[in-house]
Amino acid sequence: MPYIEDYISIVGQSVIDDLRLIAEKLKGKKILHINSTAVGGGVAEILNRMNPLLRELNVDTRWDVIRGGEKFFNVTKKFHNLLHGKQDELTDEDIDIFLSTGKENQLNMDTSSDIVYVHDPQPITLVEKRNGNKWLWRCHVDVSNPNQKLWSFLKQYIERYDAAVFSAPSFSQTLSIRQYLISPSIDPLSDKNKDLSSEEISKVLEHYQVPVDKPLITQISRFDRLKDPLGVIEVYKLVKRYVDCRLILAGGGASDDPEGAQVLAEVNQAAKEDKDIHVLLMPQNDIHINALQRASTVIIQKSIKEGFGLTVSEALWKAKPVVASNVGGIPLQITHRYSGLLCRSIEGAAFAVKQLLNSPNYAKQLGKNGKEHVRNNFLITRHIRDYILAFLSLYNKEHIVNL
Ligand code: UDP
Repeated sequence: MPYIEDYISIVGQSVIDDLRLIAEKLKGKKILHINSTAVGGGVAEILNRMNPLLRELNVDTRWDVIRGGEKFFNVTKKFHNLLHGKQDELTDEDIDIFLSTGKENQLNMDTSSDIVYVHDPQPITLVEKRNGNKWLWRCHVDVSNPNQKLWSFLKQYIERYDAAVFSAPSFSQTLSIRQYLISPSIDPLSDKNKDLSSEEISKVLEHYQVPVDKPLITQISRFDRLKDPLGVIEVYKLVKRYVDCRLILAGGGASDDPEGAQVLAEVNQAAKEDKDIHVLLMPQNDIHINALQRASTVIIQKSIKEGFGLTVSEALWKAKPVVASNVGGIPLQITHRYSGLLCRSIEGAAFAVKQLLNSPNYAKQLGKNGKEHVRNNFLITRHIRDYILAFLSLYNKEHIVNL
């Protein structure tokens, strides 16, 4: 793991000095993060990187994961889809399953830290255990247009927290508690984002048997409908009529996502006629993801909904031209035609990809601008600063901070 000092060469000395200064103010406070999976997806990714750095700054931080069975994770997946606007029925049985696993976790988890930081809806009911300490709820999903029945149900719990944190302005809701806007981040020194040699990149491509004879278009994502992998195949097919290229769809599954296998089967079905489409079901391997991103000519992220879309910042940090949907946190990362291209449809995405493949200089400039934007806004050091400030603000009742 890198040391906090290692970030000086990337963000400058003063950023690190400021972190030490504010971290000092949290002395004596114990912080506990709680989420529902230790691997897979953006939340686990961030916690894995951030907690060691917080500890190095002498912030006493722990991370625990709730337990749940298949039924529970089917319900929470349904919640996820309903929050993202999918039409579905929330049943009394769903609520019962959700609450009973919640109760079991309440019994089994030690939540006595000074600050309990709960990520996403899965562990939300733990707040019933609140006992004089501070509770913060972190929403990583796009709740710009949530299912109202589910939102009202969750709201009863959210409002028992001291404050809620959202990733993008369009997700904020009418709540009786304070709300903070804090975007997630990537770690430039992690295996997923650090520099790689061209030999390392080639080895990974060989490993997955992807030839380097044609431009590569890549989407890295869990196999999830909201990432629209079938739409990406349509985009590729439209582009392919004009520019010969390959498509990589790469991703693994998260342990809290039961729908992945089915989506993967549909993707394999749609891709099976074309040997220039590479569907890679990957084990969790950050260097491999890094290498695939670096080997790509264009990165695509055609999500239908997106909490933030870490893969976009990951690609931009590698100075790659990105075509991504104008949803969720993506427009915070991409300014259209400056640091990437935003799209709203399959045709729009195909037009954008074609344009980038045909104009390498333009593509290069977008990637370069994107990298500087990520340096200034979406690196882990900025994220740590925002979290420390949010923790501190919990002890200041009068002060409403908009980070
Ligand atoms: N990711 C990964 N393996 C995969 C697919 C994705 O490690 O098979 C990573 C990806 O590089 C990114 C994170 O998981 O760091 C996904 O975060 P994002 O915000 O893009 O989407 P989420 O999965 O949280 O909806």
